[in-house]
Amino acid sequence: MSNTDFALAVEDLTVSFDGFKAIDALTLYIDKNELRVIIGPNGAGKTTLLDLICGKTKASAGSIKFKNEELTKLAEHTRVRRGIGRKFQTPSIYENLTVFQNLEVSFPKGRSVLGALFFKCSDEVKARVQVVAEEVGLAEMLAMEAGLLSHGQKQWLEIGMLLMQEPELLMLDEPIAGMSARERELTAELLKRICANRAVIVIEHDMDFVKQIAHKVTVMHQGKILAEGSMEKVQNDPKVIDVYLGH
Ligand code: ADP
Repeated sequence: MSNTDFALAVEDLTVSFDGFKAIDALTLYIDKNELRVIIGPNGAGKTTLLDLICGKTKASAGSIKFKNEELTKLAEHTRVRRGIGRKFQTPSIYENLTVFQNLEVSFPKGRSVLGALFFKCSDEVKARVQVVAEEVGLAEMLAMEAGLLSHGQKQWLEIGMLLMQEPELLMLDEPIAGMSARERELTAELLKRICANRAVIVIEHDMDFVKQIAHKVTVMHQGKILAEGSMEKVQNDPKVIDVYLGH
């Protein structure tokens, strides 16, 4: 496979903070319908890597290409329009709006929060809300006020809000933090469902969950890739056991 066949191609990516290389000449390729999990000890550079891909942090050197287009110099909001979605750990939803309205206001051409409260939305948006609500398992809860959802449901709603923008790459930082066992199971199913139509990158520490969802695992350490491959391969890698799994 040539490098141009990948959805995301990160090459020689480097970022320094006061001379310290948090990401050090890192190269990573992600396939179109791949669910990649990034693991590694605290401080390895996992969050910084996602920050660089979504444009929250600017690279010092190297390149990030998405569907063959150079993203490296584009602003964060432009990258969203190019199909890059990023979810942070803390859900950012409108607690006083319904699940439906939260999804509606996330539609790219959607109205303001106030508009969602006072006007009827178009059939196009309604149809999209329905599809996304089913994708994230909230189709039965569209009329519920978002503030009344469980912790897990709020996380799924936020994933739904990102899906409204039709991302082709979705990045999630520890998506099961604070979830019950049942919510974890449902999140695994949800992630498997959504990567059928896009690439997904997940940062995760829970190895049982990683085993359940990952197509491929990337192990980071000190801003570089320490190992990459199937979970079975990386968990038996002496370097990985030494710096991460053995602790
Ligand atoms: P991880 O997500 O793997 O725990 P991070 O990406 O958060 O690691 O951090 C990698 C390293 O980069 C850490 O040593 C962290 O302190 C440093 N770092 C991250 N962001 C900044 C920043 N904005 N300024 C200075 N140092 C930073």
